[in-house]
Amino acid sequence: AEQTYDIVVVGAGGAGFSAAIEAKKAGASVVLLEKMPTVGGNTLISGGEMNAANTWVQQKLGIKDDVELFIKDTLKGGDNVGDPEMVRTMAENATQAAEWLKDEIKVEFLPDHLFQFGGHSVKRALIPQGHTGAELITKLKKHLDGAGIPLKTNTKADKLLTDASGKVIGVEATGENGSKLTFHANKGVIIASGGFGSNVEMRKQYNPEYDEKYMTTDAPGSTGDGIVMAQAAGAALTNMASIQTYPICNPKTGVISLVADSRFDGAILVNQSGKRFVEELERRDVISKAILAQEGKYAYQLWNEDIANISKTHEVHKDEYDMLVKEGVLYKADTLEEAAKFFNIDPAALKATIERVNGFAKAGDDKDFHHRAGLKDMSKGPYYIEKAVPSVHHTMGGVVINKTTQVLNEKGQPIPGLFAAGEVTGVIHGKNRLGGNAVADAITFGRIAGQQSVK
Ligand code: ADP
Repeated sequence: AEQTYDIVVVGAGGAGFSAAIEAKKAGASVVLLEKMPTVGGNTLISGGEMNAANTWVQQKLGIKDDVELFIKDTLKGGDNVGDPEMVRTMAENATQAAEWLKDEIKVEFLPDHLFQFGGHSVKRALIPQGHTGAELITKLKKHLDGAGIPLKTNTKADKLLTDASGKVIGVEATGENGSKLTFHANKGVIIASGGFGSNVEMRKQYNPEYDEKYMTTDAPGSTGDGIVMAQAAGAALTNMASIQTYPICNPKTGVISLVADSRFDGAILVNQSGKRFVEELERRDVISKAILAQEGKYAYQLWNEDIANISKTHEVHKDEYDMLVKEGVLYKADTLEEAAKFFNIDPAALKATIERVNGFAKAGDDKDFHHRAGLKDMSKGPYYIEKAVPSVHHTMGGVVINKTTQVLNEKGQPIPGLFAAGEVTGVIHGKNRLGGNAVADAITFGRIAGQQSVK
């Protein structure tokens, strides 16, 4: 079957939805293809937090921030491997993208609370209601439907179609029951198919360290299809070896722990000996490496009721909380002694660690690891202790794009008709993506792709 649209968007995650909606708004006919039976990708299962500087929430909380600081943090967090011009484009447009989500897409963000993810100088991550990407994807889907944009699930893009000049003119896809479909694109194809964290073979191809010994937090659709397709059409790839693990994941399943977002409110990390070993707001790669250097290659996250009450992650992520307790991965204890014993940690050692933490909290100075937000007093129970391992989370590498999201070839020239946005691209995050920057990247560049592809 053959169909023709102005714009064909591949992948229904944060980037794809944003691109499709903006292209349609600019007057194009648009189709959105999704290979899985359901939409959302990694965006759906993420915490959904989005960084932006000078947002309405920062203003309300009196937090001083600006685009330059956001750029600096992002570049530094990726060891200055990200493309400064592209990072600037993201930082300069993220605030407007967040406002678009709030005002046009009707995403509800917490009005007076932000996260400060590892590597950020200030609190700048907007938190959607429910603390997950479900709020984003539900509202984006609703808007897409309202705008009359056709969404084809169970439809996997296999190959980009090009004309004799190399211009991308459509997509070959496989639909339900293996049917062969052709989507012709009058104006352009936007690849928004996410990363390759769920593709172990591809991980190994680009970085042998990330073999099957790592589980993944990623959605099953994150298999790098768009990277392979774009490369076949002449796209340059970059930064492919940079694969990020998320440090605090379920040791039984590899799934990211959002209950453990209590870390951003002061939870500490200890090893089997009950000792801290890293600054808890360090970058994800640094914490992951530190965990893998501990006995057993795992860590425990510990917090108390006071910390739990700040973001209420237990209530917000109640299903996950109950599951972790049932699996014996998370334990609630009245005393530190009880918490230690559940995981066979020496109670005296854990108590000594907490006394030290309380001292540093009081002095406002973490002499051991310089916790950037300041440690919290944990003298009062009850306590929560959760076992965690790092798991593959984000692939920083991907196709090379420019400021208007055109995909570039090896010579740095745009491939006509081909655009890309989101995790499939490789130019923003460098060696390490900071928390809250995936959604900022996907939504900001997704919108730009939608707007530019129509021009
Ligand atoms: P981003 O954050 O960049 O938007 P996501 O992981 O949220 O990335 O979304 C990517 C989406 O693309 C996922 O829903 C995934 O299933 C989908 N996808 C991946 N490969 C293909 C493909 N070949 N054809 C159609 N959809 C795809």
